Amino acid sequence: MALVDLATGTLVADPAEVATVIEPTADTEALAAAASGNAGPVAIRFPVFNDGRGISLARLLRERHGFTGEIRAIGHLIPDLAQFLLRSGFDTAEIADPDQATVWKSSVERIKHNYQPGFRNLLPLRWDASRTESKSLDERLDRIQSLTDRIREVRRRVEGRIAFSTSLGLEDQAILHAIAESGVDIDVFTLDTGRLFPEVLETVELSELRYGIRIRLVVPEAAEVEALVARDGVFGFRDSVENRKSCCEIRKVRPLNRELEGAQAWISGLRRDHSEERASVPLAAWDEARALVKVNPVADWSTQDLTAYIAANNIPVNPLHARGFVSIGCAPCTRAVQPGEHPRAGRWWWENEEKKECGLHVNPNRKGRAA
Ligand code: SF4
Repeated sequence: MALVDLATGTLVADPAEVATVIEPTADTEALAAAASGNAGPVAIRFPVFNDGRGISLARLLRERHGFTGEIRAIGHLIPDLAQFLLRSGFDTAEIADPDQATVWKSSVERIKHNYQPGFRNLLPLRWDASRTESKSLDERLDRIQSLTDRIREVRRRVEGRIAFSTSLGLEDQAILHAIAESGVDIDVFTLDTGRLFPEVLETVELSELRYGIRIRLVVPEAAEVEALVARDGVFGFRDSVENRKSCCEIRKVRPLNRELEGAQAWISGLRRDHSEERASVPLAAWDEARALVKVNPVADWSTQDLTAYIAANNIPVNPLHARGFVSIGCAPCTRAVQPGEHPRAGRWWWENEEKKECGLHVNPNRKGRAA
């Protein structure tokens, strides 16, 4: 038998004698006695591989009885348990084959993040790590000027699926162009609410032809739309802010959230120029509610930057822009704006200015605030 140090994955040169062996059936009194003796290591036995009672006993010894000495795992153990044993309060594990120590070591090193708090967390919790990584991504993007290079940097830094939800607006067309130029793998989709202008769909087709990228149309649940229209009517969203938010929730927010499930990053075309609520939008930030990194690669662009980029690259745009439409959503909820009007004045123009968010960029955990 040999003893492996779980924190380092190395063999313990001169193991101390075990003072007490705790069986998985031990009660509180037995644990209290083992903790108070403190004459040497306490060993907890795992009689069979799938018996997890020893894990709970180690945590009780540490957290309820305040035991600070060595806790040793003995019995049926496999290297995959190394990190879990460590987090549960164990220090060492008895192994039959000393040559297996390297496998235990790699098991500890392989895991980079934890998902739940433990008695001791030598590695960062995943969420904390992601927050830190998002902050560092934000800083990196801030140092990169080219939009294409920003997209490449996001792809380099984020593992897994990156989703880009496009409204086919100017910002999103600029981002689509950069995605095509970067050649990286990004999942592009648009929310087809069923109330879009035909010009939006024409822009989808035009963009697909130009860039060779499929833009998936994501539709709402038919049953939800039917129930909404049965309750509020075809244009019920004009009757109250609540009705309008219900419509946006069913036709946009829920489909978006469904599409973002399982994605590691979400690219959007938010810009600080858009409104006061968006004035401090970062280039990248951790979205707690959706558990992903939200990337706004044109957040720091001015309107002049945007239009110059579009002109320089001959990017296809929605023909409605030429007719005075700036921010384009669903057809019944969007009108053209007059010169000098706020760009978002054409969205839900019958509503109070402060309430004009559809919910896509609102953190569900902080109702009413733009993310
Ligand atoms: S923008 Fe108008 S039509 Fe579109 S989902 Fe919202 S309320 Fe409904």
